[in-house]
Amino acid sequence: MAHKQMQKYDIIIVGAGPSGIFCAYELLQQKKFKSILLIEQGKSMHERACPIERAKKCLHCKPYCNITCGFSGAGAFSDGKLLSYHKSMFNAGEEMYLGGNGGSYIKNFYSNQEIKDLLEYTDEVYLKFGAEPHLEGVENRDQIEQLQAKAKKEKLDLVDIPLRHLGTEKSQELYTKVQTYLEKNGIEVLCNVSVDNIVKENGVAVGVDCHPSFDLCGKKFKFYADKIVLAVGRKGADWLSKMCEKHKIKTEVGSVDIGVRYELSDSVMQKVNTLLYEGKFIARTSTYGDKVRTFCQNPSGFVSAEVYENNLTLVNGHSYKDKKSENTNLAILVSHHFTNPFDKPLEYGKNVAENVNQLASGGILVQRLGDIYRGKRTWQQDLDNNKIRPTLSSAIPGDITYAIGYRTMTDILEFIKSVDKVVEGFANPENLLYAPEIKFYSNTVVVDKNFETNIKNLYSIGDGGGLTTGLMMASASGVQMARNLVNQE
Ligand SMILES: Cc1cc2nc3c(=O)[nH]c(=O)nc-3n(C[C@H](O)[C@H](O)[C@H](O)COP(=O)(O)OP(=O)(O)OC[C@H]3O[C@@H](n4cnc5c(N)ncnc54)[C@H](O)[C@@H]3O)c2cc1C
Repeated sequence: MAHKQMQKYDIIIVGAGPSGIFCAYELLQQKKFKSILLIEQGKSMHERACPIERAKKCLHCKPYCNITCGFSGAGAFSDGKLLSYHKSMFNAGEEMYLGGNGGSYIKNFYSNQEIKDLLEYTDEVYLKFGAEPHLEGVENRDQIEQLQAKAKKEKLDLVDIPLRHLGTEKSQELYTKVQTYLEKNGIEVLCNVSVDNIVKENGVAVGVDCHPSFDLCGKKFKFYADKIVLAVGRKGADWLSKMCEKHKIKTEVGSVDIGVRYELSDSVMQKVNTLLYEGKFIARTSTYGDKVRTFCQNPSGFVSAEVYENNLTLVNGHSYKDKKSENTNLAILVSHHFTNPFDKPLEYGKNVAENVNQLASGGILVQRLGDIYRGKRTWQQDLDNNKIRPTLSSAIPGDITYAIGYRTMTDILEFIKSVDKVVEGFANPENLLYAPEIKFYSNTVVVDKNFETNIKNLYSIGDGGGLTTGLMMASASGVQMARNLVNQE
C-alpha cells in the first residue's frame, strides 16, 4: 500500500454500498473524470461470507460484520427487492420510498419526472447486470384494489409498489459482476481499508485519513482528491455522526425507526405474498397517532442477525430465490420523532438495542405474541411446542417488553390487531416477535441540490446521511451524485 500514500485522485468515494458503486458506475459512463478511488472497510465481493449457517450462531465477525460491510454494502446479503418507480411513491407514505426525512431533499430539488427517469435508468442498469426481469405486483390489479379497499376500512394504507425480487444469492452474483465491471474499467476499488477522518484545508475537504481494517495499529495513510463522496450507509451512520460533530457538517435531527421483526406462517400471508410479494401496510395508531408500517417483507424467508459497531446486534430478514422456509417475516416499525430538547435519536435507538441485547446474552430476543398478551416471557419449551418455528434458531426466547418502551409496544400491538382484520391470522398468538429491529438513519446530513454538504467538495449520499432508505433509492442517489459532479465542473 506504500506506493499509494499521498496519491491524489479526482474523486474519492467512501463506502462501496449500492450508493457508492452506482456513483462509480455512472462516473465511468460520463467519462469526465480519470482517477476514481472507491474505499471500502469490508471485504471484496468474492471474500464475503456470513458464517451463521455453518456455525448456527452469529460469530460477531471482526473487524466488521460481513452482512453489512464489504463490496456492495448491505446489498450483498439483502433480500434484493428492487422497488420500481410507481406513481404511489408520490402519494401516501411517499417518504418511505424516497428515503426517510431526506426524501424531501430529493423532492425539493428534482421534479417527479426527473425522479421517474432516474429510477428507470437505475433499474435498467440493474437489468443489465442480471436483475430479475419479472416485476411483482403488476398483475391481478382487481384483487389488489379489493385488498386495499379492505385495508382502508381499518384505516390502513396498503401501498403497492412493483418490485423485482433478486433473492440473496442472486444479489451476490449481481454485485460480483458489478465489482468486476468497475475494476476492469478503471475504478480503483480498495477493500479492507477504513476511513477514519476527513482531511480539510482552509475549510475545504481535500482528502481522507485511513487505516487497514484488519490492523487497527497498522500504518495510517492519506488519500487526496478534488471531491469526496461519503456513501457510508447505516453501518457508517455512527461514524458519520462523529464526523458531522467534529467538522461542523450541518445536520437536521433525524428519526429512528424502532420495532420488531415479525414472523408468521406463509399460509396466513399467502394472498399478500402472491399479489404483491411485499405488502406495505401503513397506519397512524389510535392511542398515540404514531406512524407504524410494515417493511422488508420476506415470503418463505429467513430471519437474520447483523452486528454493528459497539457490538450491537440487530435483527433483519431476507429470502433466497430457491431455498425456502415455511414462514414470512417482515419488520413492524414505529417512527420516533423527538422534540426539543432531545436531539439524539441515534443514541436513543442504541440504548433500546443494548437493553434488548443484554437480555439475550448479546444477541436477539424472540417472544410469542400470545405470551406478550399473557404478560409472560417465552421459554425454550414454548418455542419447541410452537407451530411457528423460528428461522433464526440462535434467537433467545425471553421478554422483549422489558426493553421496548410502552409507547412503541402499544403502537406495535394496536397495529397487529388492525392488520389482522385485513389479513386473518396476522394476530395469531403463535406468531413470533424478534427484537431489536431498529433502523438508524442518524441525523440527516443537510445537502444542496448537488448533494454537497456545507463543507466545500464534501458530498453525502445513500442511507448513511439519511438521504435514502433502500437499495433502489440508494443506487439512484449514486447515479445522480455522479451526474451532479460532472455538471458542477
Ligand atoms: C438483511 C438485509 C436485507 C435488506 N433487504 C432489502 C431489500 O430487499 N430491499 C431494499 O430496498 N433494501 C434492503 N435492505 C437495505 C439496503 O441494503 C440498503 O438500503 C442499501 O444497501 C443502502 O445502500 P448504501 O450504499 O446507502 O449503504 P450500505 O449498503 O450500508 O453501504 C455502505 C458501505 O460503506 C462502508 N463504510 C461505512 N463506513 C466506512 C468507513 N468509515 N470507511 C470505509 N467504508 C465504510 C460499509 O462497510 C458499507 O459497505 C436490506 C438490508 C439488510 C441488512
